[in-house]
Amino acid sequence: MSSMNIGDISVQPVYDGYLTFPVEADYPAEGSPDYEAHRDSLQSDGRRRMTLGSFLIRLPQCPDRIILVDAGNGPSSGQLFRPGACDCPEHAHPDIKAYHDAHHMDGAARQRHLDWLSQTESRYGNLLDSLAARGVRPEQVTDVVLSHLHFDHIGWVSQNGAPAFPNATIRAAQKDIDHFLQPQQMIDDRMYQAAWGVLPTAERLAPVMDRIESWDGDVTLFPGLDAVATPGHTPGHSIFVLSSGEKRGMLLGDVVHCPLQLTDPDFSVMADIDQQLANRQRERVYREMVGDPNLAVAASHFPGLRFGRILEGAGRSGWTFVS
Ligand SMILES: [Zn+2]
Ligand SMILES: [Zn+2]
Repeated sequence: MSSMNIGDISVQPVYDGYLTFPVEADYPAEGSPDYEAHRDSLQSDGRRRMTLGSFLIRLPQCPDRIILVDAGNGPSSGQLFRPGACDCPEHAHPDIKAYHDAHHMDGAARQRHLDWLSQTESRYGNLLDSLAARGVRPEQVTDVVLSHLHFDHIGWVSQNGAPAFPNATIRAAQKDIDHFLQPQQMIDDRMYQAAWGVLPTAERLAPVMDRIESWDGDVTLFPGLDAVATPGHTPGHSIFVLSSGEKRGMLLGDVVHCPLQLTDPDFSVMADIDQQLANRQRERVYREMVGDPNLAVAASHFPGLRFGRILEGAGRSGWTFVS
């Protein structure tokens, strides 16, 4: 995976794994320009493969800092997680049943959800190896900055009940801490655990609660690295803006899961907690990109964790990768 420089700021992708799932009904038709631009995301069986990973940041004004933006999906023995599709009384997983009950899903909706789950696959657990390949040991990481607290962005904050980065401060928006530590969140989190083996957010964060520093709204975290509140996907979701001279880079978290969401505003991927607000955040990012040839963006689920920009004058179909 190729590195990117935003002026004097170094940004290196750190791969953790992937999640495979069926393509959405409104995915662009084969042969269309949008389809070609997103061919990298599709497997030969037609399903979409979403990268899971983080970004390693070095800021010229903070030479003693080694910063991770997001923390991947988390530790795993390397096995492939492949959920089954059966909800019959003998085989139903109690945590998946509890999720269906809590969301008042009728028989057809339960089966649709189970069918969807059964077409997903996830494999992860590579983040520390990917960091080592970049020459970074866990104890060297000074800061882990979280876009939001979904399991696939916080997975490596802890391992075996202890901090995975023993010297790191964990930084997160207070609104997401408040949201994800509510007891009812555990119902959704246990479903994800049953499907893909990921720990609930409250359990993943427990070993690092005493080393979390939270923020509210828009803040400068370090010279050249700002957090900007972009609620919608989650209540405390933030994007990160890297600035060096006239160059800017944005790490978009889950404001977009796929570049197609920037060029096709109606295309939806994963559920956002507040869909309308999330749509507005995507439109806001798109407008910033169109107006600024010095701005490149990447997100935690982009294929290859690559950066891209909107070509000047190319309009909605102008997405191009630049790293
Ligand atoms: Zn998310
Ligand atoms: Zn995500």
